[in-house]
Amino acid sequence: MAIIPMRVMLDHAAEHGYGVGAFNVNNMEQIQAIMMAAQETDSPVIVQASRGARSYSNDNYLRHLMIAASELNPNIPIAMHQDHGNSPATCISAIEMGFSSVMMDGSLEEDGKTPASWDYNVRVTKEVVDYAHARGVTVEAELGCLGGIEDGQGAGLSEEEAQDHLTDPTEAGDFVEQTNCDALAVAIGTSHGAYKFKKKPTGKVLRMDVIAEIHRRMPNCHMVMHGSSSVPQELLAIINEYGGEMPETYGVPVEDIQEGIKHGVRKINVDTDNRLAMTGAIRKVLTLEPGAFDPRDYLKPARQAMSEVVAARMVQFGQAGHAGGVEMKTLDEMKSYYLASV
Ligand SMILES: [Zn+2]
Repeated sequence: MAIIPMRVMLDHAAEHGYGVGAFNVNNMEQIQAIMMAAQETDSPVIVQASRGARSYSNDNYLRHLMIAASELNPNIPIAMHQDHGNSPATCISAIEMGFSSVMMDGSLEEDGKTPASWDYNVRVTKEVVDYAHARGVTVEAELGCLGGIEDGQGAGLSEEEAQDHLTDPTEAGDFVEQTNCDALAVAIGTSHGAYKFKKKPTGKVLRMDVIAEIHRRMPNCHMVMHGSSSVPQELLAIINEYGGEMPETYGVPVEDIQEGIKHGVRKINVDTDNRLAMTGAIRKVLTLEPGAFDPRDYLKPARQAMSEVVAARMVQFGQAGHAGGVEMKTLDEMKSYYLASV
């Protein structure tokens, strides 16, 4: 079984100076696309499911698809992560389902919309850390709020409003110390979804200085960048060429993510780029071959298109070639590690 705690992967990434892409899944073709890319590039991989994904595909389907992925790719370390858990109950149910990592997003209240207080965030995060670490499971937390909404999660902040909810580097140290979380999602002006920036982002909208400052204060803290799709213009062009209507929009430049990786970013969440790649491939087939009616006719190219995007990110983030280096630790071994460290 190659499903391992995410912490092991992030520690290895920190030691060797790379980042790990975390790709969202809802169905079989997306899991296959990620594993194809991981094999091709020899990468350790984080596969994540949001609450929306868990209800769409049903936990049991998702769990067995992940087990299939690990059986078919025994050489690839896989972390199975709950993206944006809205409550301790959501995280606990994920752990019971076999997830090896969870995110407790206490930056928002349980409704997944209202920005939460510091005390609330510390309390729910700590509760999940205690439960998870006793089982060897990794915990990601969030401080500050991102813009946008994805799968019903998010305060819906605009590009401008998100600037008022950035992570405060002076608070980050206290937060990590009080909660003992393994990784920290930081708000630096990024947004969820396809509509991140109306203009090409510059250093002013994307606050890389916040990342650098947190890294300076806490060199051992694993940071997570959410909403980090690059929204490649060529993928938008394919969708629009074949009947789509995507307005002008920009994502996070890969060079900025690489800059973040130099300053302690170890996990990079990418979802929108994969959605764009699949949708473009499907639109192309359905437009050029109006007689096609076998779902495989369009799902196969869609899977291939997503796999190409994932493989490109794996190379750009530096995780390519590191599959063999990550120790295949079990949750039990990780549990002993946490017990020894308190
Ligand atoms: Zn997110």
